[in-house]
Amino acid sequence: MIKEHYEIVRKAIGTDIQLCVVSKKRSIEEIRSYYDAGERIFGENHAQELLEKAGQLPEDIAWHFIGHLQRNKVRSILPFVSCIQSLDSYALADEIEKEAAKLNKTIPVLLEFHMAEMDEHKTGHDPSDALPFAKYCIEKKHLDVGGIMVMGPHTSDTKAIEDVFHKTYDLFKELQNIYTAEKIHTLSMGMSSDYKTAIACGTTMVRIGTYLFEED
Ligand SMILES: *Cc1c(COP(=O)(O)O)cnc(C)c1O
Repeated sequence: MIKEHYEIVRKAIGTDIQLCVVSKKRSIEEIRSYYDAGERIFGENHAQELLEKAGQLPEDIAWHFIGHLQRNKVRSILPFVSCIQSLDSYALADEIEKEAAKLNKTIPVLLEFHMAEMDEHKTGHDPSDALPFAKYCIEKKHLDVGGIMVMGPHTSDTKAIEDVFHKTYDLFKELQNIYTAEKIHTLSMGMSSDYKTAIACGTTMVRIGTYLFEED
């Protein structure tokens, strides 16, 4: 654990913004150091890795799935995840609904949108279909849609990042207006390179890996 970086992040986010410690590729010992510091939300992007880690770490960890999720992996991770942040298609919504119903469980999810227009590595649902997609997911009995997840554009141009984050915030507010702020409570936005910009743009949850685990 990089104590100095951790203190900087904790100070920057205050008490209102949640921290998802992105623990992909990190060892059990590294994760445990953040657990011991009081962190409970950890983000993983591979099903197999999440399952292996969940079996070796305390049960009160809230594992958040943040990567592209293949439909054939849904069943295996559902018993272990507290939230799927990367719900990005109708087909995936159908699959999570089907498997969650079998477990008689309601799964918290965030809708991931692809807001950075010029970015090649496209993850997330098309934002021009945001409202129909949100409605479709919210009507699923075993999905609890709590908000939005987004990746900032791959650039050092702060202005371009702000544009994407402002657009995402507007969409978040639009969903809150339709479905209430009580239901749509989470805007997961901001990583190591852009979390400060995300804070300025109204994020409610940052997902940080590299900065918490690596020296400058
Ligand atoms: C890896 C990852 C992060 C964390 O990125 P860092 O640059 O290591 O902070 C956040 N969100 C998603 C979806 C990721 O895959």
